[in-house]
Amino acid sequence: MGKADGKGEQKAGGKAAAKAKGDMKGKAKALVLFSGGLDSILTVRLLQERGVHVEAVNVETPFYPEYASVKEAARRLGVKLHTLKADGGYLGLLKGPKHGFGSGMNPCVDCKAYMLRKAESLRRRLGRDFLVTGEVLGERPMSQTRDRLMLIEREAGLRGRIVRPLSGRLLPATEAESRGFVRREWLLDIQGRGRNPQFGLAKKLGVREFPSPAGGCLLTDPEYSRKLRKLLALRDVGWQEAEFLKLGRQFLIGGKWVVVGRHEEENGRLAELAKGNGLGWIDFRKVPGPVAVLVDEKAPFSTVIAAAQLAARYSDAKPGQEAEGELCTAERRQPLSVRPFSPEEADKLRL
Ligand code: SF4
Repeated sequence: MGKADGKGEQKAGGKAAAKAKGDMKGKAKALVLFSGGLDSILTVRLLQERGVHVEAVNVETPFYPEYASVKEAARRLGVKLHTLKADGGYLGLLKGPKHGFGSGMNPCVDCKAYMLRKAESLRRRLGRDFLVTGEVLGERPMSQTRDRLMLIEREAGLRGRIVRPLSGRLLPATEAESRGFVRREWLLDIQGRGRNPQFGLAKKLGVREFPSPAGGCLLTDPEYSRKLRKLLALRDVGWQEAEFLKLGRQFLIGGKWVVVGRHEEENGRLAELAKGNGLGWIDFRKVPGPVAVLVDEKAPFSTVIAAAQLAARYSDAKPGQEAEGELCTAERRQPLSVRPFSPEEADKLRL
């Protein structure tokens, strides 16, 4: 790991040098692409130690389990967090990314370039001096080899304009260095997949709380990716669909997608999501049993009934008995009685 104390700094000239020295008036201002993970937390802390004014930007995609931890990490660091939402352009990447997928449905090169383009346009709007990421050389084979880092810069139209403080000494000089906002001596030389250098740096910088590497992007999850791939062959997948895919048991009935809740919390969330997206839902909670959603407004009534039979299979209705449920919309609830599918019938319909 490189020096983290910033001693022996070279003299830089002009206004930029004044900024780099860290006086409040002329403080250099950085915008950090922030995931809330350890690398991005360390990057923010490192810059703060150097007297740089730091703000963070997170590009929210529908493929993260939750964002509360990103906000909490930014709050603990005392940085302003900007949140940008991925749009249709991002979701379009899933259909055929220029640089392919990783081990799952993760189009990391295209995804990073997309996020950097978004972050850069915010940086310009805010008038911050340079753009930063917490990337570590060699940490991820898909997107953080030397070639891939350079490729991502080119794809984002940001060649030589991304500062990566954790590995910066091992990478070509950036525009922020030549303009005097960043000094090479500030930058570290962390590389590789091992996390020990980061843990050591965390200790040194007093960073005690950070999330474990697991629990990140669902596009790297094999099971989520398998289902997403299958769905993409049948329909468009947007924010709404990505949310439904995070919940419950997943089925296909005649090419129509059905999600069945596994417990009370999921049942509540499914009903809420259906309502929020103008969809109907099937409710067996009185039996008791699950909530099910047919994620398609145009499904024929026979499919709605089959979806109810499927959901009833997971209810407490006795074998051979009809299950009493309700067909619900935001406006009304209609009683419904169906024969539950057998476990074998239900299993054949799994997505
Ligand atoms: S892991 Fe997910 S969020 Fe991260 S770069 Fe890859 S696709 Fe994008």
